Amino acid sequence: MYDVAIIGAGAIGLRAAKLLEGHKVIVIDKARKIGGHTCSGLYSTNLGKFIDIKEEWVENRIKKAVLHSPGGIELVLEKPGTAAYVINRDAMEGWMAGQVKSEIMLDAEVVDFTVGEHVTLKTTRGTVESKLLIASDGGDSLVARRLDSRPAELLSGLIALTDEECHDGHVDLWFDKAAAGDGFLWKIPRGERTEYGIMATAAKFSSLEKFFGLKGYEKRFGFITVGPSRKTSFNRILLMGNAAGIVKPWSGGGIIYGMQCAGMAASVASEALKKNRFGEDLLGRFEAGWREAIGKNIELGMMFREFYKSASNKDVDSFFSMLKAGSLDSLDMDFPMLDLG
Ligand SMILES: Cc1cc2nc3c(=O)[nH]c(=O)nc-3n(C[C@H](O)[C@H](O)[C@H](O)COP(=O)(O)OP(=O)(O)OC[C@H]3O[C@@H](n4cnc5c(N)ncnc54)[C@H](O)[C@@H]3O)c2cc1C
Repeated sequence: MYDVAIIGAGAIGLRAAKLLEGHKVIVIDKARKIGGHTCSGLYSTNLGKFIDIKEEWVENRIKKAVLHSPGGIELVLEKPGTAAYVINRDAMEGWMAGQVKSEIMLDAEVVDFTVGEHVTLKTTRGTVESKLLIASDGGDSLVARRLDSRPAELLSGLIALTDEECHDGHVDLWFDKAAAGDGFLWKIPRGERTEYGIMATAAKFSSLEKFFGLKGYEKRFGFITVGPSRKTSFNRILLMGNAAGIVKPWSGGGIIYGMQCAGMAASVASEALKKNRFGEDLLGRFEAGWREAIGKNIELGMMFREFYKSASNKDVDSFFSMLKAGSLDSLDMDFPMLDLG
C-alpha cells in the first residue's frame, strides 16, 4: 500500500512527488517516457520561486510582450531585466524526474479507480493501492470526469515550430477574433527555432498557416483547460493542474499556478498522512488554500475571458485603446491582482 499515488508525471505531479519525499509515493503516467508535453515553456521569473532554474533549460530570455489588437493597436508589457524565460520543458522535466526518489511507473494508463477504505487504481500495468490520490492527469483527466468535476472549458493549443533562428527578446500575441475565434495567436523566439501558436476552442493548423504564411513546420498539439472545476478536494482525492482547470484564463498558462498548487497539495497530503485522516474536512484545506492564494486572479482572468468570448474585433480594439491610456508595466503576468492591490 502506497501513502500517495500521483497520476501524471508532468512538472506539477513531479513537484508534488519531490515535496512528499519521506512518504511512500508512486507517480504513474501512461507516457512511455518523461517529457513530451506540448507546451511553449514561456514561464515568468516566478518559476524561480519553485525550482532552481538551470541555464541549460533556457532557450531564450524575454523582456517584453507585445499584444496586438485586430486594428493594429499595440500594448507593450515590459519589465526591466528578464520578465520570462523560454524553457525547454522536456529538459526541465527530465531534471525534475531525476530529483524524485519515489517510484515512477511509466507506460501505465489508469483506466479505472475506486475509493473505499483506500484508493484502488486499475492500470494497464496492474493494480495500485494508496491511502491518497493526487490527480494531475491533465486536460482530459479521467479522475475529473469520474468525479463530475471537469474544468469549465477544454481548449486546444497548437504549435508550429520552424527552423528560423530567432533570438529576439520579446514575444508577440495577436488577439484577432477573425483569425483565432475565441482565442489568440502567438510568436515565441526559441533561439534556434521559432514557435507560432494558437489557443482556441476550435484551433486549426490552417489558421496558423494563413495568419503567419507558414509552409514547412513541425506540429504539436495539446489540451488547455480554463475555469476551475467546481470542486478539487474529495474524500481521499486531490485534483490539480490542468485536470482542475487551475490555469491562467487569459493565456492558458498553467505551470506557475500548478507548481504553487503542487506545494499546497503536498503539504495537505503530509498532514492527512500524519493524522491518518483522509476525509474532505481535512483535504478541503487544499481547495481553500489555492482559492485564497490565486482564486481572485483566476476570477479576474475569467471576467476577461467572458468579455473576450462575446466581443467583436471592434470591442477588442476599444478595450486595447482603454488599456493603452493606463500603464501596464507593473503588472505581474501571473498574479495581476497582487499588483492591482
Ligand atoms: C500549446 C500549449 C502551450 C502552452 N504553453 C504554456 C506556457 O508557455 N506556459 C505555461 O505556464 N503553460 C503553458 N501551457 C499549459 C501547460 O502545458 C499546462 O498547464 C501544464 O502542462 C499542466 O500540467 P499538468 O501536469 O496538469 O498536465 P499535463 O502536463 O498534461 O500532464 C498530465 C500527465 O498525465 C498523464 N496522464 C493523463 N491521463 C492519464 C491516465 N489515465 N493514466 C496515466 N497517466 C495519465 C499524461 O500522460 C501526462 O503526462 C501550454 C499548453 C499548450 C497545449
